[in-house]
Amino acid sequence: MQLIDGKIASEAVKTRLAEAVKVLQDKGNRKPCLAAILVGNDGASETYIASKVRTCGQIGFLSNLIRFDAQVSEERLLEEVRKINTDSTIDGLIVQLPLPAHISAEKVILAIDPKKDVDGFHPINMGNLALGLPGFVSATPKGIMMLLEHFNIETAGKNAVIIGRSNIVGTPMSLLLSKNTNPGNCTVTLCHSKTKNLNSFIKQADIVVAALGRPESIVAEDIKEGAVVIDVGITRLDDSSAPKGYRIVGDVDFKNVAPKCSWITPVPGGVGLMTIAALMQNTFTAYLKNIEN
Ligand code: NAD
Repeated sequence: MQLIDGKIASEAVKTRLAEAVKVLQDKGNRKPCLAAILVGNDGASETYIASKVRTCGQIGFLSNLIRFDAQVSEERLLEEVRKINTDSTIDGLIVQLPLPAHISAEKVILAIDPKKDVDGFHPINMGNLALGLPGFVSATPKGIMMLLEHFNIETAGKNAVIIGRSNIVGTPMSLLLSKNTNPGNCTVTLCHSKTKNLNSFIKQADIVVAALGRPESIVAEDIKEGAVVIDVGITRLDDSSAPKGYRIVGDVDFKNVAPKCSWITPVPGGVGLMTIAALMQNTFTAYLKNIEN
């Protein structure tokens, strides 16, 4: 078994981006800038946003974190998005999800200028992905493709089973892995909560992408010998023996599954780190377009 180490791969991306930014800055260009909107103070969202802001600083990007309390109106939030859309010093905008129930995430995503939608959630970017046209790809599936590429993992002709069909992970992942690219060229099966006999699909899989949000639910007995296993899941489980009072677990029972795999991502230290690296890559792409114009 070999580890798909998100730390190694994400550091490589970050180093490359930091060097590229430095070269462009030395030529007199401004720094890339990512704006992030955070509504409320959900613990997990705070952690994710803090990592994104910290990473921007590490690689020479500017970040602009805009906070609203959980009672903010939908109109006020939309007004902020429109303001950022027209701010030529900001390259990318992300709105941390989930949003409070009184705000439509759909409306907010639709309001983001697709050219600044570095999370790749806007229908224009999703549509471009479906059609194989250039655009921003959602950071988690993009990060997984970058991991496969970094570790030179063979995907062509493999049976890939993706578990979970969300707009931000499972669905874009299924499109990416089925494309005529490298990595890609898989025969993809997209499983979800209504799939019957999920185990029978997993048992056939050369590549398993687990993104169902059910901790340690993918078990060794279902995994084919030599499979590649990508664990997207992140769940906080209460653990009084852990320093923070909780521990992070994935969707895969890592301890028992790992010995059967050819490659596997750890949680933490796998897909999560690469998601942030992919977001930075998207922001850099938006920045390059802006400084060229
Ligand atoms: P989601 O809740 O939007 O979607 C979950 C999907 O899993 C649904 O499509 C559902 O049909 C499917 N599902 C649920 N139970 C199932 C079951 N028993 N069998 C088969 N399918 C089932 O979740 P999401 O936003 O796609 O996130 C999934 C997981 O990935 C979560 O744990 C989330 O925290 C994590 N996540 C991690 C990253 C990262 O950077 N590592 C990024 C995004 C999400």
